[in-house]
Amino acid sequence: MKHYDTIIIGAGLAGLQCARLLGRKGLSVLLVDRKASLDTSIHTTGIFVRRTLEDFDLPEDCLGPAIRDVTLYSPSRRSMDLTSQHDEFRIGRMGRLYARYLDHCLRAGVDWLPGTRYVEHCRLKDRLVVRLDGGHFSRWVTTRYLVGADGAKSRVAGDLKLDLNREWIVGVEDVMTNIPLNGPPRLLCFLDPKIAPGYLAWIAHDGEETHVGVGGYASMFDPLRSLNQFQSSLNGIIDLSGAISLERRGGRIPVGGVLANIATTEGLLIGDAAGAVSPLTAGGLDPCMRLSTLAARVIAEYLETGDADALKVYSGELFRARFASRLWMRRLVTSVRQPALVELACAGMRLPVANWFAWHVFFGRGSFPDVEVPFAAEPLAGTR
Ligand SMILES: Cc1cc2nc3c(=O)[nH]c(=O)nc-3n(C[C@H](O)[C@H](O)[C@H](O)COP(=O)(O)OP(=O)(O)OC[C@H]3O[C@@H](n4cnc5c(N)ncnc54)[C@H](O)[C@@H]3O)c2cc1C
Repeated sequence: MKHYDTIIIGAGLAGLQCARLLGRKGLSVLLVDRKASLDTSIHTTGIFVRRTLEDFDLPEDCLGPAIRDVTLYSPSRRSMDLTSQHDEFRIGRMGRLYARYLDHCLRAGVDWLPGTRYVEHCRLKDRLVVRLDGGHFSRWVTTRYLVGADGAKSRVAGDLKLDLNREWIVGVEDVMTNIPLNGPPRLLCFLDPKIAPGYLAWIAHDGEETHVGVGGYASMFDPLRSLNQFQSSLNGIIDLSGAISLERRGGRIPVGGVLANIATTEGLLIGDAAGAVSPLTAGGLDPCMRLSTLAARVIAEYLETGDADALKVYSGELFRARFASRLWMRRLVTSVRQPALVELACAGMRLPVANWFAWHVFFGRGSFPDVEVPFAAEPLAGTR
């Protein structure tokens, strides 16, 4: 039976980032994903914020043109423009990015098992025995440490007796091309509790790709119906007549805040499995990069020293404290369901304080807290 220092379940952005860092540290790592190929069933729009673009060296050819302009629409489609003097967002070419990060993993010596599902694990003396199912075969591998990077509904989290996500919104979008762009690349956000209850509808258009989607609480809307309704209401805003559809994406987004209990001496959680998503903006890519980088440091330290104290900094409680205001704002957003009230709030955004708030939400730099880690200074980023 093959033995690894770490087995990582899930090769989304979180799992890939953690695997390539641990591989570079010389640990033996097995990366597993139930998907046969990482460029299928992508479920993210892939908008990276400035803070991530600055702190991590994402490969240039895996990113679309920079976006500085945001237009915010009220339910009655009154609009307000916000323009930053910085390049605030870039839409990731996620299939290509996953493939590049996987290549980094393989070069760092990580073993890769696609088309293979994590089923369960048990402890046997000083190691964990993990059962994997590859469709036509079942295999057992052993590891010193298990990482759950298996998304919002994490099976690993339950098996490790760690916390589970309990609150999420669902998002669905169409990725299209051949749509004319009038003006600079732009993010258009539509606040409309009928189409997108508890979140928003969006168009992200960088001149090459256009993502048109809706998100909200599953119990309050039918996502596909809302998406159709939204797309057919866009006359005068965007010309979809010549659009070429590339793919449809969708999935759950945990918005209850980072979970409190995300690490034990047997394993830990990263990315959506850890609830590491901004409760307000539902942005999860920056948290993926930050938390996975921290996890790699913590795991390496723990496996090297065997000292459980190394895991103490990897505490959801620490992060949650810094998310208090965003959780509070999510409660507020969820409670406002009447279009008239949202309309009023949008009108209020022209006032200086509320306008500052909108700026802060779109262009602020507080996506996910950095954590002071008591290890030797080490760059956050990986190499291209
Ligand atoms: C529609 C939508 C749009 C979004 N847009 C943005 C955005 O623009 N910007 C942003 O910052 N955030 C966005 N998010 C959130 C962001 O995409 C996620 O937070 C992030 O992608 C999570 O990455 P992850 O690696 O934790 O999980 P995932 O990407 O979900 O990866 C989990 C992986 O685990 C695998 N897996 C699951 N179970 C098993 C198992 N039992 N065995 C083996 N493998 C398994 C899955 O196949 C998957 O590949 C969006 C989310 C959605 C749903």
